[in-house]
Amino acid sequence: MNKNFGLLIDGKWLKNKKTINVYNPFDGKKISAVSIADSKQTINSIKSAHLAFQSWSKTSAKYRSEILKKLFKLTKESKDILSEIITLESGKPLEESKVEVEYGASFIEWAAEQALRSEGKLFESPENDKKMFYIKQPIGVVVAITPWNFPLAMVTRKVSAAIAAGCSVILKPSELTPLTALKFGELAIKAGLPKGVFNIINGNPKLIGEILSTNSMVKKITFTGSTEVGKLLMKDSSSTVKNISLELGGNAPFAIFSDANLDKAIEGFIAAKFRNAGQTCISANRLFVEKKIFNKFVKKLVLRFKKLKVGNGFENNDVGPLISEKAIKKIKNHVDDALSKGGKILIGGKKSKVGKLFFEPTIISNVNTKMKIFSKENFGPIIPIIKFESDEELIRLANQTEYGLAAYFYTKKTSRIWKVIENLDYGMLGINSGKISTYLNPFGGFKESGLGREGSLQCLEPFLETKFVSWSYND
Ligand code: ADP
Repeated sequence: MNKNFGLLIDGKWLKNKKTINVYNPFDGKKISAVSIADSKQTINSIKSAHLAFQSWSKTSAKYRSEILKKLFKLTKESKDILSEIITLESGKPLEESKVEVEYGASFIEWAAEQALRSEGKLFESPENDKKMFYIKQPIGVVVAITPWNFPLAMVTRKVSAAIAAGCSVILKPSELTPLTALKFGELAIKAGLPKGVFNIINGNPKLIGEILSTNSMVKKITFTGSTEVGKLLMKDSSSTVKNISLELGGNAPFAIFSDANLDKAIEGFIAAKFRNAGQTCISANRLFVEKKIFNKFVKKLVLRFKKLKVGNGFENNDVGPLISEKAIKKIKNHVDDALSKGGKILIGGKKSKVGKLFFEPTIISNVNTKMKIFSKENFGPIIPIIKFESDEELIRLANQTEYGLAAYFYTKKTSRIWKVIENLDYGMLGINSGKISTYLNPFGGFKESGLGREGSLQCLEPFLETKFVSWSYND
């Protein structure tokens, strides 16, 4: 598994004495150790990317597209091994890992196609002897910092769009799940990416992060992770005024109105809540149910929770482990905080006997807005359930958070749907659907959930500069 050591710099795999261990969150066993970059190697990766950019940025979009198509094919062909690595280092159920590989690969194919459609614009000029237009050019060296919850898809969403745009990339994957990214690096080299176009470095996030976000050769930072680290990167990168895209935390409301199809709403909720054991930034984080159906709905939901199988991701379970002790502690703290403020456990509420990093799927009622489970991102298999009586009350409560990433609601009433769409302060909405992620989705959020969008028709845009030209041909 650790044949690629941990560092891909200037087309070479490097091995260092200093390593970090990678563990399987299911049983805490060590899977591998990967080399970590020191300051010098981090700077070397920037220099390599900078040099590679000079030629890569001049290649044709067609050429870049061809290489990405090869990478797409190789990724699809490696589905089994990639899914196994994802489950091994993240703990998520194998079926989910397979879906992640398909999802991750879709970004590569999409970027390969969108590379061919990058365009500038010629305007009708206000002056007779002038042509006015703008062209798009790759922004330069891109740093991509990615999280552990989607060890492949968050990498491909950023890296393939940057490469399609003509940028070179330094990827710093999460130290908790570097192995998937390293396997992907192997495929990228095999697909024909020239040396230095794609570098991977692992190591101390603070040390590496500071070097990358303050170096003037780096022109763009694209980050997915916590709001706290996102703010830090924004601050550090301000010294060189870097372009920055941030996809940060969420606190997704999931609302069910009394006219909704309850069975479908429950399945949509389970999908939105339990993907990766609740560890996604678009996971349902607060469940709002209209008063008229509250009791009936709660009974159905508790029954549905009882059916969830918690356990090893390799053994056909629905809910895997959390990623770390820190994550378990946070969930426990949120539950204790809710109980101390009058919350009531309807099911679950404690660590699961399955293993050290498992928590029981939990529903908490009697919730108020002062509780952490209302205001903070839980990132685990727990959910507060809250009654509401009107559209206005739902909109007010749903928006009562500093986050604004994803929101979901179930209703059949068309007049209400438009009102809710317009008034929810969120970047992405699921209406009668708990699944919103595709390459077509402009992924990103309002407020402190981030800056910019990834994927979508505009997937190359974050990696392009606009150059305006006013050309007098009356010379
Ligand atoms: P989480 O709390 O969900 O693990 P983080 O924001 O800590 O999310 O991690 C997301 C990514 O950010 C990971 O790749 C991690 O290594 C990286 N990271 C963490 N701290 C820093 C930092 N100070 N500078 C740069 N990257 C960081």
